[in-house]
Amino acid sequence: MSSRRQFLRLSLLASTGLLLDGPNVLAAALNATDAIHVVKKGDTLSAIAQNNGVSVTALKRHNRLKSSRILVGQKLSIPPVRTMHAALAPVIAATTKIKVDAKRWRYIVLHHSGIEDGNAKVYDSNHRRRGMEHGLAYHFVIGNGRDSGDGEIEIGPRWTKQLRGGHVRSTKVNNSGIGICMVGNFETRRPSPKQLAAAFNLVDYLQDGLVHPRHKLTVHRWVDINHTVCPGKHFPYSTLKHRYNLA
Ligand SMILES: [Zn+2]
Repeated sequence: MSSRRQFLRLSLLASTGLLLDGPNVLAAALNATDAIHVVKKGDTLSAIAQNNGVSVTALKRHNRLKSSRILVGQKLSIPPVRTMHAALAPVIAATTKIKVDAKRWRYIVLHHSGIEDGNAKVYDSNHRRRGMEHGLAYHFVIGNGRDSGDGEIEIGPRWTKQLRGGHVRSTKVNNSGIGICMVGNFETRRPSPKQLAAAFNLVDYLQDGLVHPRHKLTVHRWVDINHTVCPGKHFPYSTLKHRYNLA
């Protein structure tokens, strides 16, 4: 399928409401094969990305491009539009209403909650009881299907008000780090496929212009070394490293 047709078909899916059924339906509908774009004179990465409904970040990562320089005749593989994740809709809606100073966010830190119960509201009251004036320590909470939807992304006031986090010991990382918490104890199980997909889609969305270009994507245990097992031994660290080219 040509990239243009892929884009048109997506628009069609969106208008028929099929997108709301989630990424699996979408991937199946698109057959999940990569389209190829041959670079023409005057093409830019951002225009190619826009025409195909993907982010520049995703396009660069997919083609392992180190810079935005492209050459006429170069073949670019267009990633399947995985970033059109239904769970992102409320995040996009909330974020378009606020002003984000991307340069201040130098870290994205992934967490698990360590318990299977709870959601943004529950953790907010817990954190307030523990004396955190801004409540919920994370910017986003991703549900496990118990007290919020499986893969549902809840947006905390620290994101809508663009406040520092309170999710790690390091003051530097709290001041400039976005905290994403997946509900569950990943010492005993893996994140659900929907939770992980939502987390990766949220990271992709944030990386596309909402954080410092030289930010660091990390997990709690890599920040507070020897202080926590968060996000647990069953979190797929190798998948994370591979997907985001982390050392
Ligand atoms: Zn943590």
